Amino acid sequence: MPDARRRIPRTDVLLRDLRLLDAADRIGPERVKSAVRQAQQQAREGIVKPEGVVDAAIALLPRTVSGLQPVINATGVLLHTNLGRAPLSAAARRAVQEAAGPTDVELDLETGTRARRGRTALAALCARVQAAAAVHVVNNGAAALVLAATALAVGKEIVVSRGEMVEIGDGFRLPDLLVSTGARLREVGTTNRTTAEDYARAIGPETAFILKVHPSNFRITGFTRAAAVAELAPLGVPVVADIGSGLPAPHPLLPEEPDARTQLEAGAALVTASGDKLLGGPQCGLVLGREDLVRTMARHPLARALRVDKMTLAALEATLTGPPTPTEQALGADPGELYRRAERLAGMVRADGIDAQAVRSRATVGGGGAPGVTLPSAALSLPEPYAAALRRGRVPVVGRLDGGRCLLDLAAVPADDDQRLTEAVRSVRAEER
Ligand SMILES: *Cc1c(COP(=O)(O)O)cnc(C)c1O
Repeated sequence: MPDARRRIPRTDVLLRDLRLLDAADRIGPERVKSAVRQAQQQAREGIVKPEGVVDAAIALLPRTVSGLQPVINATGVLLHTNLGRAPLSAAARRAVQEAAGPTDVELDLETGTRARRGRTALAALCARVQAAAAVHVVNNGAAALVLAATALAVGKEIVVSRGEMVEIGDGFRLPDLLVSTGARLREVGTTNRTTAEDYARAIGPETAFILKVHPSNFRITGFTRAAAVAELAPLGVPVVADIGSGLPAPHPLLPEEPDARTQLEAGAALVTASGDKLLGGPQCGLVLGREDLVRTMARHPLARALRVDKMTLAALEATLTGPPTPTEQALGADPGELYRRAERLAGMVRADGIDAQAVRSRATVGGGGAPGVTLPSAALSLPEPYAAALRRGRVPVVGRLDGGRCLLDLAAVPADDDQRLTEAVRSVRAEER
């Protein structure tokens, strides 16, 4: 044993190994050193052989440069908030890469003078929603509302229906957010019914704007009534429509989901939305509408604190101008094709002796969009213990539990990932043995 311990390579020798040098370039020398020290300790304890220290160190290296691990979203929820909502298209990912270094984000290369930040992304947004006279982009949907309230309504009133005082998630309540700016809320109507007259009675010299909030994560049914933007626009104060999901135009599969174009054409002075919901882009907040209001917001000092990064601008532009987003493709996926994929996957892993079947399932939009809507989908059904094992795997797969089975729903899994999915299931099986 003392002999074997003496054969453990020294740290400086190990760090000259080409694979570890390469790892140091990728993830940083300190992390490689730390893995090497742990591997040497394993050798001292006799857990690995002295010849195996490099391999052991490599096995101990973190899988990703940051703590964020790419996962396969097999939850059947297209926009899963805990999984970062919309996955970016290949075009948007490329745009992020391109923008990561120095770029002309605020410089006109032709004249050498300062230029409007993110002008091409803003132009792309204007082109996509032509009903908007002007646009602005901030960090997220909540920031768009905060900026609207701060720039347009501090010390004044925002008129909002009691049926639209919503909590978005994780204890985050829109009314609290709005009040935190110094604007006052003037609640009108009741939880289930609010009419245009309710708004009309509340409007006065103190009113900054009427806020319409799309209840994007719940539905109230039965004896209900809400005033549409078209009924409120003639009341003489700006109507701000927080549509949430960010659809630029009506979507044929989601007839209930509000979109920017329709709301603006109905008379909304401003529309606010998120970029990483149904638009399928990066996290950001979109503000679209009347030129004077957008300008007031964009010029407010707070706008600087809410402005987006160059990589976000790049991803947004690529999302708007590029090929259909993964979200769009998932929405329009053919359920028959999803089922055929599930059958193929089931066949492949059954060949390894795994209890797997293809099943039909229902997917949801999630992430604050299209509540109550389900989409026909298909899943690979596995024994329940696979759920936790797959989640902890080398390529983490997040499925869902249903009726004592682990379902890997394919609605949000691009077909290109089927191979990785099969390998993930097989590797869990291999560990089981
Ligand atoms: C999601 C959502 C928000 C918040 O948007 P974030 O981008 O998460 O900040 C606000 N309002 C509505 C209606 C939403 O659906």
